[in-house]
Amino acid sequence: MVQMWTPVKLPLGNQSYLQDITVYLLRTETGVMLIDSGLNLPSSYETLTNLLVQEGYLPEQIETLLLTHYHLDHSGLALPLQEKFSIPVHIHKNDREVLEFFKKHAGSYTDYVEKFFNTFGIPEQTLMRIKRELEPFKKLLVGPSEMQVLEEGQKFETVSGNIEAVFTPGHTPGHVSFMYTKDRILFGGDFLLAKELPHVGLFPHTQQYNPLKDYINSLQKVRDLQIDVILPSHGAVIREPQRRIADVYGFIQNKIADIYRLLKKGPLTVMQICDRGFGPERDALSYFFLLTLSLAYIRYLKEEKMITSRRKKTGILFMA
Ligand SMILES: [Zn+2]
Repeated sequence: MVQMWTPVKLPLGNQSYLQDITVYLLRTETGVMLIDSGLNLPSSYETLTNLLVQEGYLPEQIETLLLTHYHLDHSGLALPLQEKFSIPVHIHKNDREVLEFFKKHAGSYTDYVEKFFNTFGIPEQTLMRIKRELEPFKKLLVGPSEMQVLEEGQKFETVSGNIEAVFTPGHTPGHVSFMYTKDRILFGGDFLLAKELPHVGLFPHTQQYNPLKDYINSLQKVRDLQIDVILPSHGAVIREPQRRIADVYGFIQNKIADIYRLLKKGPLTVMQICDRGFGPERDALSYFFLLTLSLAYIRYLKEEKMITSRRKKTGILFMA
């Protein structure tokens, strides 16, 4: 019997430190469903359509596109696929909001980032370097024109049983995984990776959330699901999900304790927390991500009432 799903590796070009993304083609009675879509690159589009043909389908037989989250390596091809074949795209409402925000503010996104980090006292020179690095991404910030809201527990029928949406926020505020109960598989998106920690950051465009808290809750939620395998979007298949979840959970708890100890010694700025807690980083784009990571820990500690902050002329100081 043919397996219900097929992994499809799509190239990411030089737009990402990751080499490729795995999207999943799911067979239905009359065509296919896709979980995620790859970056909006011609090479990515070609690889995807060629593989579909190899598997015996035409691109117009894609009946549904399910997005695990808004990141451009997952949602990028949604727009051209939707424009060409009117494919319905499903995404959680929190991530739909982010894509709609990008659509409205793509042109001024780097100024928005600058304003956000300014309040934390990040030096102008560092901000200019970050802005320059973010500039090329502005043109990629175009989501699909129509998005349907993906609900927790929503089911989609395949040729062999249903898959079911499981809300797993943290990596993004609307991250969703898909459980295939029949084979005890979770299509996990970027919820969990075999070798690296998924990035959990507080970004200017998601500043109302508590991403680390969300992520910890998602780890606990998936730990209790009846699954044997997680099929992630990047890297190797995770064959012992419970063990990997326990490792990641432990790492995060240790990091929370580390940052708290640092702040017990005296007040620090975000930059100081970033340098001491996550190591110095010279390349501006990595530094941007480390700052958002530091902010996710700070938000968590603040909401747990473990730390407080004080606004100074030079930026915000945090203390335990
Ligand atoms: Zn991602």
